[in-house]
Amino acid sequence: EAKNLGKNQVALYAKALTEHIINMDTLDKELQEALESDAFVLHYQPQFDLSDLSVVGAEVLVRWQHPTRGLLSPYAFIPRAEESGFIVPLGWWIIEESLKQLALWQETGAFKGTLAINISTLQIEEESFVSAMQALCKHEKIAPSCIELEVTESFVMKNTQESISKLLALKKAGFKLSVDDFGTGYSSLSYLKQLPIDKLKIDRSFVKDTPRSEEDCAIVKAIIALAKNLHLEVLGEGVETPEQSLFLKKEGCHLVQGYLYAKPMPPEQLVALKQNN
Ligand code: C2E
Ligand code: MG
Ligand code: MG
Ligand code: MG
Repeated sequence: EAKNLGKNQVALYAKALTEHIINMDTLDKELQEALESDAFVLHYQPQFDLSDLSVVGAEVLVRWQHPTRGLLSPYAFIPRAEESGFIVPLGWWIIEESLKQLALWQETGAFKGTLAINISTLQIEEESFVSAMQALCKHEKIAPSCIELEVTESFVMKNTQESISKLLALKKAGFKLSVDDFGTGYSSLSYLKQLPIDKLKIDRSFVKDTPRSEEDCAIVKAIIALAKNLHLEVLGEGVETPEQSLFLKKEGCHLVQGYLYAKPMPPEQLVALKQNN
């Protein structure tokens, strides 16, 4: 009996695995087709200066306009894209598209802030990442200082010769560097000190229960203090309530992003907002 049960489980597992593979295969094909048929769209979420609530920048966030399933969240396809490597060509499309958008905005004066772009570790680790970024900026006549690259805490914390020199090269080329979802990746604080980082983005999971949760308040305060002491900028992510915003402001965090202020939006809507100029 036990043996049969074991066999059944193996069979079930094999079936699930096959279905998973078939599904992944379909998803991979669909993603490739989406790229070819221009089915990805970019939304922009404004970032605000708390002192005057002006827009100082915007984060680029990708969505997939799926033929039958509607507008899909990146959570539905980024994990697979990371796993399969598709994130690299997709990432280049996102970078090119958002640089084109910024060039247009700068030309017309419609938006003067910084553009924050999420960069996958697979992509930043490409040999020619820095030179390709420089070439794209040059082609679009965009100053690298207008571009903020959001890197993951795990890439920063690799602290290998390669990752350090990559960050240094990007910094030297003039790009801004921020650590996304800061606090979730167990950063070694001593590494942080040596790296050419400009900004920490406090992960939404820590902001969510402030000011109610004492523990989360303590974590957020610690990150803000750390940023101050290392002369880094700090931005609070996922601000949804006035209480959270007040708490962040009181603790000395000047930059915020979140539904309280604005959701990610199509480019036409972004330019209608009050800007810092
Ligand atoms: P992230 O980079 O940490 O982006 C912030 C996410 O939080 C976005 O979700 C944004 O819509 C959401 N958010 C912002 N404010 C609030 C808020 O007040 N409340 C709540 N509940 N959520 C808020 P989104 O657009 O679904 O993106 C999810 C993640 O997918 C991103 O997290 C990022 O890791 C990844 N991603 C999105 N676009 C790209 C991209 O272009 N390239 C890469 N490599 N990854 C991307
Ligand atoms: Mg981000
Ligand atoms: Mg984030
Ligand atoms: Mg996040």
